[in-house]
Amino acid sequence: MSSLREELNQQPKRLSGYVSGGFTSPADAEEIAVIDPTTEIRVATLLESSADEVDAAVEAARHAFDKGPWGAATVAERQAALTRIHDAILANADELAMLETINTGIPLSQTRNMHIPRAAYNFRFFGEYINQSGGEVFTQEPGLMSLVTYEPIGVCALIGPWNMPLGLTAMKIAGALAFGNTCVVKPSELTPLTVTRLFEIIEGVLPEGVMNLVNGRGHVTGTSLVSHPGIDMVSFTGGTVTGAAILGSLAKGIKGSAMELGGKSANIVFADADFDKAVDAALLSSFMNNGQMCLAGSRIFIDRKISDRFIDSFTRRIKALKIDDPAADGTEIGPMINQAQRERMERYAGSGLGEGATLLAGGHRCASLNTGYFFEPTAMLAPTNELAICQEEIFGPFAALQIFDEEDEVVARANDSEFGLVGYVWTEDLNRSMRVASALRTGTVLVNTPIVRDLRTGFGGYKQSGLGREGAKGSQAMFTEMKTTIIAREPRKMPRMGMAGE
Ligand code: NAD
Repeated sequence: MSSLREELNQQPKRLSGYVSGGFTSPADAEEIAVIDPTTEIRVATLLESSADEVDAAVEAARHAFDKGPWGAATVAERQAALTRIHDAILANADELAMLETINTGIPLSQTRNMHIPRAAYNFRFFGEYINQSGGEVFTQEPGLMSLVTYEPIGVCALIGPWNMPLGLTAMKIAGALAFGNTCVVKPSELTPLTVTRLFEIIEGVLPEGVMNLVNGRGHVTGTSLVSHPGIDMVSFTGGTVTGAAILGSLAKGIKGSAMELGGKSANIVFADADFDKAVDAALLSSFMNNGQMCLAGSRIFIDRKISDRFIDSFTRRIKALKIDDPAADGTEIGPMINQAQRERMERYAGSGLGEGATLLAGGHRCASLNTGYFFEPTAMLAPTNELAICQEEIFGPFAALQIFDEEDEVVARANDSEFGLVGYVWTEDLNRSMRVASALRTGTVLVNTPIVRDLRTGFGGYKQSGLGREGAKGSQAMFTEMKTTIIAREPRKMPRMGMAGE
């Protein structure tokens, strides 16, 4: 057990909001327990931000945007601040990774090698992007010059989920700041440790009020934030139902939003695929991050010609996955985020069996681990795509397999989903890969590769997986207002009205 975990077990941190350059100390705040899902012990107490504290945070961001120096900062000044945040994250990477693992149950190898470097890289990327990106100029029309410029949108409410708390929230913060906005950040009440720590380690980097924090539950702090008239937009990553509720609230003020929501992504393995790579990738796409990934490719379609061999190999590998304390060396699967999420896994295992699926692996709580919300990595073979385990986002280590015969048939079944986040295709046939990639109704298609995020490209969903895209131009669209300025380059010839008496 790590010394940091022992320290937190003995003395849970007390976490509050951060407004106008300092942590708040609310006197009568609701106290929310933050639990380590491995030990089930409280590691922090969250002093929930009330509507008043949210109001103060939005006002601070509003004042910093309208009157402060950030909007007028040069690109070089913004880049310097983003670089300092990048460096601060990397300088504290070991601690941040351990905090993330303690709070989420995600294996340390993944938080240390992916989540935290990715959190830092967001700041470097957007720092570099603003130096290279620009507006547009149109001069084709004689006598006119049309300029398209991108101006900061204002005060951004940035709301993050619990499955990659710092990595995903850092993406929003980096984008919002790079384009000259100010922000109020709200991490998930389940996982506030790393985002709150970020505010400590970057103390003094930004002018007062540019980056504020509110901490608390969705129905208290979250709703106060998204319904506040002082915000200009919401960038949200989380569940589809929550996203829809937030959109409803924003509609009243005609406020913009970007929504990164749920998924149920198809992973199609054709018979001509590189078999070993396809099996390796199916494991990663279903079980990395404890299977709690929006882009999990856990609806796996296997060509009948290789289905016996694939299912045998995939199932053997699942049974060999190492489930243990996520802070321990070699652990591949840690606990679910909480009791409710583990019960959700149990319910889906039951519903799969009830609807005629065959259990291939897992399906139960871990008998060997009594403490912690552990659940065995699970795979089921489903007879059709209609089953709840094939249609609903489970958000845990749970793969639903189906067998297919024809390309057209599998594309139709892959698209038969209310979600449209990612599609994975495994084939050595270039023409087929291009055909299937264009036929899939998803925001991202990955061919012969497991999960990759390239910040230069846009990431987001079709259908109920979201609105807008995150990444270079997508983030620019999200965090800026596009302005058109049309200038006459010579005196304009124009019809003259009211000339009857002349
Ligand atoms: P969630 O929707 O329960 O919560 C997300 C955030 O919204 C939390 O900070 C929560 O406190 C807040 N919130 C809840 N109700 C709110 C309300 N009414 N108003 C304002 N804020 C509110 O999601 P979660 O359980 O934290 O995350 C899991 C979900 O996130 C999954 O559906 C997953 O697919 C999705 N996700 C999507 C992406 C993506 O990029 N598309 C990435 C990661 C996670």
